[in-house]
Amino acid sequence: MKMLIGGEWTDASDGATMEDLNPATGELYDTVPRATKEDVERTVALAVEGQKEWAAMPLYKRMEALEEFIRLVEEKSEEISTIMTLEGGKPIAQSRAEVGRVKDTTRAYMAAARTLYGKTMPFNPEPRGEGDINFTYYEPLGVVACITAFNFPAVVFAHKVAAALCAGNSVVLKPASDTPCSALYMIHLFHEAGVPKNAIHCITGGGAEVGDLLVSDKRVAAVTLTGSTAVGLNIAKKCAEQLKPCCLELGGNDPFVIFDDVDIDEAVKQTLGGRIGNAGQICCSSKRFIVQNTIRKEYTEKLVEALKKLKIGNPADESVDVGPVINKRAADKIMEQIKRAESEGAKIACGGTQNGCFIAPTVLADVPKNSSVATNEEIFGPVFPVIGFDTLEEAIEIANNTCYGLSAGILTKDMKRGMKFATCVDAGGCVVGGSGNYRLGQQPFNGHKMSGMGSEGSMYTLAELSKIKTVILKDVLK
Ligand code: NAD
Repeated sequence: MKMLIGGEWTDASDGATMEDLNPATGELYDTVPRATKEDVERTVALAVEGQKEWAAMPLYKRMEALEEFIRLVEEKSEEISTIMTLEGGKPIAQSRAEVGRVKDTTRAYMAAARTLYGKTMPFNPEPRGEGDINFTYYEPLGVVACITAFNFPAVVFAHKVAAALCAGNSVVLKPASDTPCSALYMIHLFHEAGVPKNAIHCITGGGAEVGDLLVSDKRVAAVTLTGSTAVGLNIAKKCAEQLKPCCLELGGNDPFVIFDDVDIDEAVKQTLGGRIGNAGQICCSSKRFIVQNTIRKEYTEKLVEALKKLKIGNPADESVDVGPVINKRAADKIMEQIKRAESEGAKIACGGTQNGCFIAPTVLADVPKNSSVATNEEIFGPVFPVIGFDTLEEAIEIANNTCYGLSAGILTKDMKRGMKFATCVDAGGCVVGGSGNYRLGQQPFNGHKMSGMGSEGSMYTLAELSKIKTVILKDVLK
């Protein structure tokens, strides 16, 4: 595929390309251009113009275009899902389910756009304001750079692109290098739906080159990133140099606390549901299973049994439960992390093997509570570290002993204990009664500590992607 700049399918100015591989087969899926500095500069210049055109359209017209985008995504759902599975390795049923979420996510931002009201200040709050009326409204920021992770090419796309458009901004999207084609396809649908061609662009290339050029461009008013904490820190530093706002949705090492008052089979079911989707590559999937010592052995055995029943293989096969991870580099990293966990005292209860981009679902038993995987190491793959605890206080201490704070979950029949955990865990969200792997378009989704900055979700994002203007009607009441 080619880049989509100003509505034109475009090669890089020097003709350079990069490969988009199918992680399940290792075969070439497609190639995309590797944008040059010249390409980035030209795209941002067009986006500056496109933003004016888009913002000048009345809100109801902009919303009509977004509604048509939703219709087109539904119509082309099978094509988008197939691209996602072939280039990203997500099992096809999960790709379809994800594409299905684009509608709700986009509509959540549209609802927020329709109610992004300003405020009117009380008359005469102080003597100097006597006779005046002050009111506020929201203005778009301008050109927003949307930089996305590979793991949710459709839903993260909607959270970034639809939100920025709803606030009246233009968008330059830089999708993850491993999943560019689904993004290009959907940007094209925005054009088909009536969004002006210069209001939304998609440029492809490496993050450290193209992403960095985009972040550093002074005409880009804000950056919204979903990605790793390391990249988020880099972008935050670059943005700070220009006092440019950035919204960062980053990594996590989410705790899932399981007490012995619950049915163990149900706990195992919730564990699978909270972790195994997309081969464990979900930002808010549970990544540390903190299990009461009284049931830890039985829970671990049953978890191993359940994992052995899963079908691992080509994600295009409808019957497959677990596909590959995104690329060979990611798979090698997971194996290194498993080995490190072992060297720090964990025991491999099952899995622990690699075949190309495939990692066998792995249970790490007896994980010491101060080891890397129990604290600051995010494993982005199908790995289940099990850590024991005795008391609620100890479970909270383990859950909070990490630099991350994205999401959390607790399973117990005791609601008071659940609430105590929810209020004490230092995370952006907590599910009481299940895994923290939970996200709706409307809810605020925000990482505490090193898991992010800002809050994504329709209740908050539009304000973050806008700026407040105050208008003073001087002396009108005199
Ligand atoms: P990544 O950080 O490697 O890449 C994310 C994006 O940033 C990609 O488009 C990449 O090309 C770009 N990038 C890389 N270096 C850059 C630079 N110097 N300047 C600008 N852009 C740059 O992340 P990934 O491997 O694609 O995704 C996995 C990570 O994302 C995990 O840590 C996961 O937890 C996190 N994630 C977080 C959320 C959330 O909402 N909090 C959601 C999904 C994924």
